[in-house]
Amino acid sequence: HVKHNSRNSFAFYETAMADAEHERLAIETDLRKALESDDDLYMVFQPIIGARSMRVVSFEALVRWKHPTRGIVTPGQFLPIAEESGLISSVTDKTVAIACRVAAGWPGDVAVAINISPSQLQRADLQDMILRNLAESGLPAHRLEVELTENLFVGCDSETMRQIRALRDLGVRFSIDDFGTGYSNLGYINNLPIDKVKIDRSFLTGVLDDARRETLLRGLIAFIAELDLITVVEGVETHDQLDLLANNPNAHQLQGFVFGEPLNACAARELIRRASPIVPAARQAAQ
Ligand code: C2E
Ligand code: MG
Ligand code: MG
Ligand code: MG
Repeated sequence: HVKHNSRNSFAFYETAMADAEHERLAIETDLRKALESDDDLYMVFQPIIGARSMRVVSFEALVRWKHPTRGIVTPGQFLPIAEESGLISSVTDKTVAIACRVAAGWPGDVAVAINISPSQLQRADLQDMILRNLAESGLPAHRLEVELTENLFVGCDSETMRQIRALRDLGVRFSIDDFGTGYSNLGYINNLPIDKVKIDRSFLTGVLDDARRETLLRGLIAFIAELDLITVVEGVETHDQLDLLANNPNAHQLQGFVFGEPLNACAARELIRRASPIVPAARQAAQ
């Protein structure tokens, strides 16, 4: 029986492997086509709110893929495949171009934040690519922010640091994304050429029911603020979480579904144009 079972499960495993590989190839082929089209890959924009002013200070640009049969494919579903297949450079080119073009049309000083995956920092032409997009769109460098994950900095090479420093000297700002989820030690943060730290949303879990969790989040926020970095708390979903953070002077900026889901370019522009303080979603809706 054991033999029989293991043979069956092996056959099953092989089939599952073949299916997964087939699926991966199908997505890769479709992604290649999407990269050639004009609007299959597009960006949505999630507001980042000044915690004191309750006004939009920037938008994070997040990539989406409108697939002809699968519907909207999320970055979590296709970016790993883009990485494996080498299509990630083309995806990055496209997202940076769209984000700069859209943000250049915004009134006032609202910034746009783009996510750049660690592999892209190995590109020798990354700096040139970003500068070309700033020049072509007319977006001033100080209105572009680049979000990098902390793992990128673990044992990163001097070429990576050189590119970050060069862009930063020109006014582009850098943030650490998903802070607290990586493999780095806390001390490293002190020496990085960055402006902002985005605390991962997992740190909000349970803060309202567990005093120790609240202490941990408050301590983390204070730690970053005392290093003269801007703090952003990601994943604010409820009014109770919002109240907690709005009363914390070290929590500079907030982002999350309590302010709404990411918006299309048109709606983002409209939100800036209205220029009024953000009214969080109705309390009932946020619970
Ligand atoms: P991230 O950079 O940490 O972006 C925030 C993610 O959390 C987004 O998911 C956003 O929709 C989601 N989110 C925002 N507020 C809330 C909230 O209150 N609750 C919860 N549960 N989620 C919230 P999304 O758009 O699916 O992106 C996932 C990740 O994919 C991003 O995490 C980022 O690492 C990556 N990504 C997204 N767009 C791009 C891109 O253009 N280029 C690259 N390289 N990576 C991207
Ligand atoms: Mg991000
Ligand atoms: Mg994040
Ligand atoms: Mg995150």
